[in-house]
Amino acid sequence: MRHEIYDVVILGGGPAGLSAAINATIRNKKVVVVEQEPSMTSLKKAPKIDNYLGLPGSSGQDMLASFNEHARSMDVEIVARRVEAIGEFDGYYNILLGENMIQSLSLIIATGVPYKATLPREDDYVGKGLGYCATCDGPIYRGKDILIVAHGPEAEYEANFMAEICRQVYYLPLYKNIGELDERVELLPRTRPQAVMGKDMVEGLELANGQAIQVEGIFILGAETAPDRLVPGLLIEDNHIKVNRQMETNLPGVYAAGDCTGAPYQVAKAVGEGLVAGLAASKYSSRKK
Ligand SMILES: Cc1cc2nc3c(=O)[nH]c(=O)nc-3n(C[C@H](O)[C@H](O)[C@H](O)COP(=O)(O)OP(=O)(O)OC[C@H]3O[C@@H](n4cnc5c(N)ncnc54)[C@H](O)[C@@H]3O)c2cc1C
Repeated sequence: MRHEIYDVVILGGGPAGLSAAINATIRNKKVVVVEQEPSMTSLKKAPKIDNYLGLPGSSGQDMLASFNEHARSMDVEIVARRVEAIGEFDGYYNILLGENMIQSLSLIIATGVPYKATLPREDDYVGKGLGYCATCDGPIYRGKDILIVAHGPEAEYEANFMAEICRQVYYLPLYKNIGELDERVELLPRTRPQAVMGKDMVEGLELANGQAIQVEGIFILGAETAPDRLVPGLLIEDNHIKVNRQMETNLPGVYAAGDCTGAPYQVAKAVGEGLVAGLAASKYSSRKK
């Protein structure tokens, strides 16, 4: 990836993110789309779309391929990484991608339907032993036992990283075809996580197969992202990012588009909001320069 300060960084390569990207590119902005895994885009799962104007009967997969082709034909840079965390410093957004960091004047969040906690009292344990980015919190768990609930193979990198510093890393895969795990990582049988153990702080995790694993840290990785965990201070209303008609959030230079801003969860809405966000973020980054 290029080493420069971007005008617009877009999180998510679904219809909203790609629409934002082509429109900011047309405005001559330096743009990058960061997409963790194109197969996680909702559109790819849609068997047949009949309500997108002018393209009746398209499969979601074909539509997504043609959206991507359009973006690539305009030289939009697309990086295959998951955004782990974002911070703001001195008017720039710093976006953590694994071990790399990129900077941008503005951000567009287009990460799809937001993550909803699935474990009982999950939200109560956040910051008290439960987290969503192992590499970010790694040093806190040096020499301790942790458990990773892995929704997808991208969690393997974080498990191997944690194996370097933790006493014991347990890996609970919720997917098939496990890749290469460090030999120090203990692979658990594929079963659902049931409940966090511990009164105030995490003390372990109960599994649906009756096992109870004692640990001080639990990381839930590879699930959909809760946007306010990615961008601290982001205002959420009814589980969606609060935006105005310019797709502005409550944070300066941060815009949102698509399913993450609320229903209806539809391609046409995502594409339209992506357009507005792309134009608004372009205007913002021009003003900042
Ligand atoms: C089965 C099914 C049928 C559907 N049928 C229709 C239909 O008939 N008509 C219609 O209009 N709509 C339909 N939809 C809905 C439509 O697919 C969505 O509304 C649309 O895809 C939303 O676009 P989006 O860009 O907001 O989100 P998404 O398409 O979900 O894209 C978000 C992207 O962000 C990425 N992402 C998330 N977090 C991160 C991160 N931290 N770092 C990097 N990338 C990240 C995800 O991998 C994902 O690819 C259907 C959906 C499904 C699942």
